[in-house]
Amino acid sequence: MKAAVLFEAKKPLEICDVTIDKPGPHEVLIRTVACGVCRSDLHFVDGAYPTPLPAIPGHEAAGIVEAVGDEVRTVKVGDAVVTCLSAFCGHCEFCVTGRMSLCISNDTKRARDAAPRLSLNGDPVHQMLNLSAYAEMMLVHEHACVAIDPDMPLDRAALLGCAVTTGAGAVFNASPVTPGETVCVVGCGGIGLAAVNAAKIAGAGKIIALDPVPEKRALAEKLGATHSFDAMAENTIPEVVELTKGGVHHAIEAVGREASAQTAVKVLRRGGTATILGMMPLGSQVGLSALDLLGSKKLQGALMGGNRFPVDIPRLVDFYMRGLLDLDTIIADRMPIERINDAFDELRKGDAARSVITFG
Ligand SMILES: [Zn+2]
Ligand SMILES: [Zn+2]
Repeated sequence: MKAAVLFEAKKPLEICDVTIDKPGPHEVLIRTVACGVCRSDLHFVDGAYPTPLPAIPGHEAAGIVEAVGDEVRTVKVGDAVVTCLSAFCGHCEFCVTGRMSLCISNDTKRARDAAPRLSLNGDPVHQMLNLSAYAEMMLVHEHACVAIDPDMPLDRAALLGCAVTTGAGAVFNASPVTPGETVCVVGCGGIGLAAVNAAKIAGAGKIIALDPVPEKRALAEKLGATHSFDAMAENTIPEVVELTKGGVHHAIEAVGREASAQTAVKVLRRGGTATILGMMPLGSQVGLSALDLLGSKKLQGALMGGNRFPVDIPRLVDFYMRGLLDLDTIIADRMPIERINDAFDELRKGDAARSVITFG
């Protein structure tokens, strides 16, 4: 099968003919239909985060089930599925206490001495983030995908695999937003736009979007932002505090930079919560001051939006089908796998909302 392989960080991906194994007892073979191009992949491609190589990136995908292992009960051949990198074992402490997105059990992976899921000329190729979706096929654990409504268009469904589940999860699971509360979203890429849209669905009062790019601010307003400001402008923080009469109840950071994380803390009102979603460079720090703590402000991470994806993703599909979740506006471009390196260049420029790789 055709796949985009990363052999060396800071080098372009190469399209190769990769061999994919047959499903083991708890595995699912999926024909990839679409895969979103997420900034987290760029961190590995550009070498900011270490990862074993060669590997196939891609972790925001949807497709059709081609084959299942003997023990698989959750999906069947022909099902439309969305994958999620938050593969969960179902029996560790995190899983049984309802925080399955924190599961790090190796039980969803193949044993070290077993045949690899992916290989190239007989040598193993690493599966990135449990998925490796920049490929015509994916071989994943059954707890890394969920069946969805077959009427859902799969190029839009792909975005539910990472960006939208993360942005919406910050609003629905991690915050969570009560109707009428104010929300400020810092950064209007795929995750930030999803957070804006989810805040509208949750019935937030003022929804304030911050981004330096005017086109992205316009998209945020289309998706439900009541106000938007240039994130880089000098007066933005005091303006947000003034507009909300003392700061917002919830700030959601969706960029992955120290400065934007600090902005999320600074726009909070007393008792407010900042949720940092962006993947910051390793070694980054963000904190609360003595006065922030006296004001009962809270700062938290929310890996992948604290999702319970087998429940969350079908609900998000339902929101799309009812016209509440606007995935059409979030997608800026669709392109074949041969243009994957162009898609990363677009992401480095930072202008587009979301590119999606489509297959077949
Ligand atoms: Zn992602
Ligand atoms: Zn687990």
